[in-house]
Amino acid sequence: MGGSLYLLMIILAIFISVAAMIARANRAEDTYDDLETDEWDCPDCGFHVQAGDTCIYCGAKKPQ
Ligand SMILES: [Zn+2]
Repeated sequence: MGGSLYLLMIILAIFISVAAMIARANRAEDTYDDLETDEWDCPDCGFHVQAGDTCIYCGAKKPQ
Protein backbone atom coordinates (compact mmCIF):
# COMPACT_ATOMS: atom_id res chain seq x y z
CA MET A 1 0.00 0.00 0.00
CA GLY A 2 2.89 2.33 0.83
CA GLY A 3 4.38 1.73 -2.58
CA SER A 4 1.25 2.72 -4.48
CA LEU A 5 0.88 5.87 -2.35
CA TYR A 6 4.45 6.82 -3.27
CA LEU A 7 3.64 6.20 -6.93
CA LEU A 8 0.50 8.33 -6.59
CA MET A 9 2.57 11.18 -5.13
CA ILE A 10 5.01 11.00 -8.06
CA ILE A 11 2.15 11.04 -10.58
CA LEU A 12 0.59 14.00 -8.74
CA ALA A 13 3.93 15.85 -8.71
CA ILE A 14 4.38 15.25 -12.45
CA PHE A 15 0.82 16.36 -13.12
CA ILE A 16 1.34 19.61 -11.15
CA SER A 17 4.65 20.24 -12.95
CA VAL A 18 3.04 19.75 -16.36
CA ALA A 19 0.08 21.97 -15.39
CA ALA A 20 2.45 24.70 -14.18
CA MET A 21 4.49 24.39 -17.37
CA ILE A 22 1.37 24.70 -19.55
CA ALA A 23 0.16 27.71 -17.53
CA ARG A 24 3.56 29.38 -17.93
CA ALA A 25 3.62 28.60 -21.67
CA ASN A 26 0.16 30.14 -22.10
CA ARG A 27 1.22 33.25 -20.19
CA ALA A 28 4.37 33.57 -22.28
CA GLU A 29 2.25 33.26 -25.41
CA ASP A 30 -0.06 36.04 -24.18
CA THR A 31 2.92 38.30 -23.54
CA TYR A 32 4.21 37.46 -26.99
CA ASP A 33 0.83 38.34 -28.51
CA ASP A 34 0.81 41.68 -26.67
CA LEU A 35 4.15 42.54 -28.24
CA GLU A 36 2.85 41.55 -31.66
CA THR A 37 0.03 44.12 -31.75
CA ASP A 38 2.19 46.56 -33.73
CA GLU A 39 2.53 44.14 -36.63
CA TRP A 40 0.61 44.83 -39.81
CA ASP A 41 0.64 43.86 -43.46
CA CYS A 42 1.42 46.59 -45.95
CA PRO A 43 -1.54 47.01 -48.34
CA ASP A 44 0.74 48.35 -51.09
CA CYS A 45 3.42 45.67 -51.28
CA GLY A 46 2.16 43.01 -48.88
CA PHE A 47 5.27 43.25 -46.72
CA HIS A 48 4.71 42.10 -43.14
CA VAL A 49 5.86 45.06 -41.04
CA GLN A 50 6.88 43.94 -37.56
CA ALA A 51 7.45 47.36 -35.95
CA GLY A 52 6.72 50.99 -36.67
CA ASP A 53 4.04 52.79 -38.64
CA THR A 54 5.92 52.89 -41.94
CA CYS A 55 6.57 50.00 -44.29
CA ILE A 56 10.34 49.55 -44.43
CA TYR A 57 10.01 47.91 -47.84
CA CYS A 58 8.06 50.53 -49.83
CA GLY A 59 7.68 53.41 -47.36
CA ALA A 60 3.87 53.30 -47.18
CA LYS A 61 2.16 54.49 -44.02
CA LYS A 62 0.29 52.09 -41.76
CA PRO A 63 -3.45 52.05 -42.63
CA GLN A 64 -5.71 53.25 -39.82
ZN1 LIG B 1 4.96 48.23 -48.31
